[in-house]
Amino acid sequence: MLLGYRYKLKPNKEQTLKALNWIDMLRANYNYNLADREATYQARFIQGEYCDLKSKSVACPLSCPISSNSATSETGEVYKVKKKTGEIKLKTAEEIQITNLPVLKQVRPWYKEIDSTVLQQNVKRLQTAYNNFFTGCGRYPKFKNKSNFKSFTFTTGIKVTEQAIYLPKLGWIGYFNSRSLPEGFKIKSATVRLKADGLYVTLKIEDKAVPSFPVIPVEEVKTVVGLDMGITQLVHCSDGSQYKNPKHSTNKRTRQLLKVRQRSLSRKKKYSKNRRKARVKVSRLHQKITHRREAFQWELAKQLTKKADAIIVEDLNISAMKKRCAIKEDVNQKGRFLPNGQSIKRGLNRSISDASWYSLTKKVEYLAGKQGKIFERVNPRFTSQICSCCRHQDKTSRSKEKFICTNCGYHADADINAARNIKKRGIEIHSFPISCKVKIQMVPEDFREPKQLGLFEMSTFESTEGKRRRAAPQSKRRVPGNSARQLELFEDISANLA
Ligand SMILES: [Zn+2]
Repeated sequence: MLLGYRYKLKPNKEQTLKALNWIDMLRANYNYNLADREATYQARFIQGEYCDLKSKSVACPLSCPISSNSATSETGEVYKVKKKTGEIKLKTAEEIQITNLPVLKQVRPWYKEIDSTVLQQNVKRLQTAYNNFFTGCGRYPKFKNKSNFKSFTFTTGIKVTEQAIYLPKLGWIGYFNSRSLPEGFKIKSATVRLKADGLYVTLKIEDKAVPSFPVIPVEEVKTVVGLDMGITQLVHCSDGSQYKNPKHSTNKRTRQLLKVRQRSLSRKKKYSKNRRKARVKVSRLHQKITHRREAFQWELAKQLTKKADAIIVEDLNISAMKKRCAIKEDVNQKGRFLPNGQSIKRGLNRSISDASWYSLTKKVEYLAGKQGKIFERVNPRFTSQICSCCRHQDKTSRSKEKFICTNCGYHADADINAARNIKKRGIEIHSFPISCKVKIQMVPEDFREPKQLGLFEMSTFESTEGKRRRAAPQSKRRVPGNSARQLELFEDISANLA
């Protein structure tokens, strides 16, 4: 079982400066390694008869060290011998770059200050980025700047006591012991991370004696819940309950506060101390929002996992949802563009980011796994158009927040109907031994559209105003005119009747 525990560190001034210095150096090394890999890859196309442009070794298909993930070997060692079999193999780019590290320390002696496992992990970090790219779950690795490179990892020599954590070459660092480590766990790694309010450490701990959590067999699943994500209501459950969206960063007050602080930052002189202070203020606010959201999501995830033995959520493509609107070119005037609704979309995108559905479902997944429950993501296609009762698909069944089936008359909140469809899909995938029956609710009389009245037809409905009028004492003179005129009128009517 592998777990992660995070603590806030209490380093002294010296340790803080050291850690910040390390981050800068490691970033430079990361960027150097990335540039090296790109250069060696490009060299394939221009190298001519050489296998390596730097060492000018002659090209030969057997000795050529260049492959799609290659690196320049500064030590000249491109082969490794497997100890067990004695087999000779080409080193991978990662291995080449790790063997380059001693050379780096000779050329740039200040790198000696950094713990060697930290440097190795830094190379591995780049390899992980490449692996993610090649397996299709990440973008191509980018060069890092100060804003997106803020951490380093130790793998050996970590010691933890109640008061302090020992990290090689940084020494004993005090920390806020907010959560005691479970007994019997071995520390696998420690990642130090710089945040707006200081340094944090994440300990990865493992206990092989504790088995990973067993998953409930499909036959024993008794309850299933489907979750539909939204913006006004964050989560709609198939059991009919809804959870409000607290809008941590898009509520009026926070937006206003952020606006004020960002404006103040933008008006400060560049590279000034005041600008730095203003920047800290902005990032602190962002951090506060994140903390609030995280705390809320963990609590919500806990409640959601309690609901059933199996939890089904929709597999949303959020980056596609947040795409910019297509540009509209003016046909009459070349080079001119028509409004395309992007300014409205921006607000929606902001709300989508604020809701952060993916991180919520990730938390649900984690907690469900911990309790041995089944967690599944299903395709949400057409879930808002299909009737969860009769499976009739019709676009017109939905009108904003209401869903009334045009086929069978089933009616429900549109999002809850979608959650029920998600639940059904999950049941189909796993074939749980439960019948997913939905109570048939016909549209009652009152919800039907009122009958269209003819021009002279009176509505049978009596308004309160009419009642009041009728209750008032009636005057004696119901017909206009004097008595003689009244008599005339009466005669006219009786003549007509005859
Ligand atoms: Zn229906």
